Amino acid sequence: MLEVCLLGTAAAQPLPDRALCSATLRCAGRRILFDCGEGTQVSLRREHISPVKIDLIALTHYHGDHIFGLPGLLQSMVLQERRDPLWITGPEGLEEAMAPVLSLAGELSFPLKLLPLPAEGLALAALHPAWPAGARLRAIPTRHRVPSQGYVFTLARPGRFDVAAARALGVPQTDWSRLQAGKPVSLGGAWILPEQVIGPERPGLKLVFSGDTAACPALEEAAAGADLLIHEATYADEEEKAALYGHSTFVQAGQLAARAGVKRLWLCHFSQTIGEPEQALPLAQARFPAAECGFDGLCTTLVFRDPTEND
Ligand SMILES: [Zn+2]
Ligand SMILES: [Zn+2]
Repeated sequence: MLEVCLLGTAAAQPLPDRALCSATLRCAGRRILFDCGEGTQVSLRREHISPVKIDLIALTHYHGDHIFGLPGLLQSMVLQERRDPLWITGPEGLEEAMAPVLSLAGELSFPLKLLPLPAEGLALAALHPAWPAGARLRAIPTRHRVPSQGYVFTLARPGRFDVAAARALGVPQTDWSRLQAGKPVSLGGAWILPEQVIGPERPGLKLVFSGDTAACPALEEAAAGADLLIHEATYADEEEKAALYGHSTFVQAGQLAARAGVKRLWLCHFSQTIGEPEQALPLAQARFPAAECGFDGLCTTLVFRDPTEND
């Protein structure tokens, strides 16, 4: 199970009713925060989310509207007596971008680790043991005016444990959890392998967060079949302007979602020139009918689907 919450949906400048673009996911009680613009900690508080449970802050790039909230958030973590380590990841230039942030934040009460993600992605259990073994985060290079990356979070779901097969093989119940964890069990001088009692892997969950980007083929490929794509839509249909500033339009976000075959699309990072995002929504829905306008506080829970009930 995966809880996703859009904390803010504004581009460039925070508005009274639209905080800067940021999102968070929660899995097994632990959190990732995507981007941290000015005021993100206010949005977290509004959603009753404790910053202490955030293991990783994943930055898409280092424009101010995505990082100016960091010093304040780090200081609040100190005030809340955080002790657990905090990891921060981002594209090329992470150390340089974080130097002034750390200088402003002052002395921390917890270890802070800067962590470029490995190309194959990061198993989140390495950050905190509560993360499920199949939870991974990887970065996808995107197309903005500065080094930038989007993120793909995946939660794998192991195959079904076949109780009848385990019983037929004579595996004592005390050894089932070992097999479920993917480890072999020794029985009467022979080895029982996990694949003898566990069915094929079932569909997991995939969440994609674009950050700021022009239409990006690598992101489109990575988003294939995603349960939820959170994609920026800075402009309605002004493609020239979007290309100039390295952003996407409602039209382009809808097209990308359709081509990637995602299940849901949330649009966000709206320019101030978009007074009412709902008015531009039909532009995206014409390409991807299930497109939704994000709004501050939009949350959902993604759950595993039973393979017998879906495609
Ligand atoms: Zn931005
Ligand atoms: Zn930007």
